[in-house]
Amino acid sequence: MMVKAFASSADLTEKTATLEVLADGVYALTAEGDPNVGAVEGEDFLVAFEARATPAAAHDWLSLLRQHTDKPVKYLVLSHYHAVRVLGAAAFDAEVIIAHDNTRRLIAERGEQDWASEFGRMPRLFKQPETIPGLTWPDVVFSDRVSIDLGGDRGELTLQHCGRGHTAGDIVAWLPQQRIMFAGDLVEAQAALYTGDAFHREWSTTTLDRVKAFGAETLIGGRGGVTCGRTAVNQAIEQTRSFLNTMLDEVGAVHARSGTLREAFEATHKALAPQFGAWPIFEHCLPFDVSRVWDELDGIDWPRIWTAERDREVWDELQGE
Ligand SMILES: [Zn+2]
Repeated sequence: MMVKAFASSADLTEKTATLEVLADGVYALTAEGDPNVGAVEGEDFLVAFEARATPAAAHDWLSLLRQHTDKPVKYLVLSHYHAVRVLGAAAFDAEVIIAHDNTRRLIAERGEQDWASEFGRMPRLFKQPETIPGLTWPDVVFSDRVSIDLGGDRGELTLQHCGRGHTAGDIVAWLPQQRIMFAGDLVEAQAALYTGDAFHREWSTTTLDRVKAFGAETLIGGRGGVTCGRTAVNQAIEQTRSFLNTMLDEVGAVHARSGTLREAFEATHKALAPQFGAWPIFEHCLPFDVSRVWDELDGIDWPRIWTAERDREVWDELQGE
């Protein structure tokens, strides 16, 4: 049996980033399964969605965006607290950084550990890590919904918390006029789910129901390509739900018969691999995902903190020989 390299530590091939103009003043940057980012133009300002892992990585995105607009970034929206989404914030020089209040809580509680954990798991995403000035702190937090008036006839951008899901503090960004949604890691298109900090039962039911109820015509998930058309958007949402439900079923069955975590991992891997095995970060995520489902079934509501050490322990227990 081949020994699997830890998480994505052996994934060193640079991905091609593609900037797409989804509507007048609405931009998405996708990168073959690496984390997506976006931006929306107001009359005289920009709203950026997600910050990438380092200021150097964010700068690469901003230089592509600057071929289309030179408006200043007034708002930087963080969909959730994960290091690869927030630590590049300094590059945007944003007036206001906005996030959910649970995101601020998670940064305070585990931002340092998450930084070390994600750096170890996905070193390639941390381009010039020395450019990170420290943790990213939101200036404004909210618990349910806020709207940003984009000015002129551009309509508004709504930031909405749909319940707990990928983390306790995910938010989506919604353009009602263009029916475009930036869903963060709540929905993935053609990429495996990371659920190590998730609330699987809530995410797979009420949270995804609320995401779906927007009726988006275009959806940018956390990773993978842009999804276009209502049917394809609903398929991406249902595929995400099916990934979660399969994990809950498989881990649940082993948990119910008092089996081991390793057995739960093997059963889940077997069930998911035919459909999802070739997708980006599948092998990387699954041990952490199964571990968190197991905890949730044990009644641990608030996810345990991932540290670089705990990452290795769980990896060796589940992906080791
Ligand atoms: Zn995430």
